[in-house]
Amino acid sequence: MKHIQQILQSGTFTSTYKFALLISITRLAIEQGQDTGAALHLDYQDIAEKFIDLYWKQSLPFQFNQYEPFTIHQSTGKQAKIISEIQNAQQQFKTLAALRKDVFYWNRLKRTVATTVKQMPVVYLQNLNGQTVEFLYCLEDSKQSLRLLPKVMYCLRQFSEIIEELCQKRWIDFVRLNKQNLVVLDGLPDLDEFMFAPSRNQLGQVADFLIDLQQCQCFYCGKSLKNSKYAVDHFIPWSLYPADTGHNFVLADDKCNSQKSNYLASEQFLDQWRERNHLHDQAISREISQLGFLTDLRRSHRVADWAYQQAIEHEYLVWLGGKDKQILAHPISGVF
Ligand SMILES: [Zn+2]
Repeated sequence: MKHIQQILQSGTFTSTYKFALLISITRLAIEQGQDTGAALHLDYQDIAEKFIDLYWKQSLPFQFNQYEPFTIHQSTGKQAKIISEIQNAQQQFKTLAALRKDVFYWNRLKRTVATTVKQMPVVYLQNLNGQTVEFLYCLEDSKQSLRLLPKVMYCLRQFSEIIEELCQKRWIDFVRLNKQNLVVLDGLPDLDEFMFAPSRNQLGQVADFLIDLQQCQCFYCGKSLKNSKYAVDHFIPWSLYPADTGHNFVLADDKCNSQKSNYLASEQFLDQWRERNHLHDQAISREISQLGFLTDLRRSHRVADWAYQQAIEHEYLVWLGGKDKQILAHPISGVF
């Protein structure tokens, strides 16, 4: 963790790739790893997929107020290569979902992005003040796949919240301070929302689908949503895992949504959520992926496993509904 902090604080950045790489391997450690000290092999194609997911929205022109639509520069020199490749894809495909459907194009894009990832940030990420400190992976062993050293997977899973927050913050700072963006972006308040949050328009479409799926009832309290305001809730809170996966969305009335806030929901709700996902997997995958979100039931559930494991270890409060919260008990604590 100290090294990661050092990289983020004193490392040199000519583009935002290193942030994207740190975020990508952290998310993959959660999705594909376990809470053990073992090494973990990450496929470069999977890392590329995370890159495309992270950069897709950021590669679109950013439209605000009196300015012409503007694409943010992710590099101090000419536009970062991955951005140009994604923009080429965006000429042909309106959404990430449409792009994924074209398997040939999608795989080709993943391959070219993977090559850039391998040649650029993977080589340079572990440079600290001119010296290479191999604390995340050994470059020599990472030709075919990125091999996270023993204990790294465990640490990334433990400290993911801090890593995500630091990376996003430094990423935003880089974009804001990049001379090529300065004229337009200086002092702009909602840059983080544009760069990292799903668009309101997209979430509105998710709500339209979920209202039918949930038969117009709040996921948590079951009350009718007919005459009340409602919102799309991230079942595993965004603050814990800031990436959208389709099965994570539920629809809640404003009251439950604001009471749940950034808490995990109780294990009873967890069971209810898993059950819903199994029951409606096909519909969720079909409809929500069309809106451009990643949908993969296994992946969503693995993220949930990780989140509840974290909650048990660190004694997080979980939300029980209404105003009630309690510390999530360790499953074996009852035995003693
Ligand atoms: Zn409710």
